[in-house]
Amino acid sequence: MLIDTHAHLDLPEFKRDLPQVIQRAVEAGVFTILTVGIDPPSCRRTLEIAEAYPNIYAIVGIHPHNAAEIGERDLAGLQDLARHAKVKAWGEIGLDFYRNLSPPAIQKERFREQIHIGKELKLPLVIHSRSATQETIAILQEERAGEQGGVIHCFSGDAKTAFRYLEMGFVISIPGVITFNKAQGLREVVKGLPPEGIIVETDAPFLAPVPYRGKRNEPAYVRLTAETVAQIRGQDLSEVAAITTTNARRVFNLDTQ
Ligand SMILES: [Zn+2]
Ligand SMILES: [Zn+2]
Repeated sequence: MLIDTHAHLDLPEFKRDLPQVIQRAVEAGVFTILTVGIDPPSCRRTLEIAEAYPNIYAIVGIHPHNAAEIGERDLAGLQDLARHAKVKAWGEIGLDFYRNLSPPAIQKERFREQIHIGKELKLPLVIHSRSATQETIAILQEERAGEQGGVIHCFSGDAKTAFRYLEMGFVISIPGVITFNKAQGLREVVKGLPPEGIIVETDAPFLAPVPYRGKRNEPAYVRLTAETVAQIRGQDLSEVAAITTTNARRVFNLDTQ
């Protein structure tokens, strides 16, 4: 039994065959999926999907790429949406200085605002950080995000960074990237993490693990990521499934499998 803690099921890539995608996840032992919105329309679609399936939950918030497009009214609307029982976290929020699709200053401002919203709603925070580790840590610290805690999604940093996040009250979410040849550094980090600090995700439709690299990713493939984590840590898949599922249930306050 596995949980895919981060997928984007509302994106056009799944428009044609979402029921089959979800069926394949169940067949692979992935009974629970958290699907993440990136802007207001995407958050609304995400919640509709969560309402349609008992074991799918929603995460709502404004992605750093979309930070420049939205205003105060959008954020207020999303806060109303987030009071729905199927919404289990606020995200993904953070900083992406790799692509800089929104100006960095606006990304930072929206990040701080959304940390406050998540805290106010008592929802765990799902953090996206790319090429922005120092700035992300500084803002999380300054805004006391650790009081709420949450997830560092699609983690790609070094061991020191991982332990810094763990100390602050976040868990580390491991993507399919860990199956890539070049991900030796990430595999070393995962070997040394405490069991209570790890969860797994696909970030579907992006970042499909080997042997599907370059193709559309889907929640069923989180199993390949968990298998790699098991191999690295010298554990059985069933052990990794048990710890990551327990951690995800704790962090997101899930009452299902
Ligand atoms: Zn992300
Ligand atoms: Zn994402």
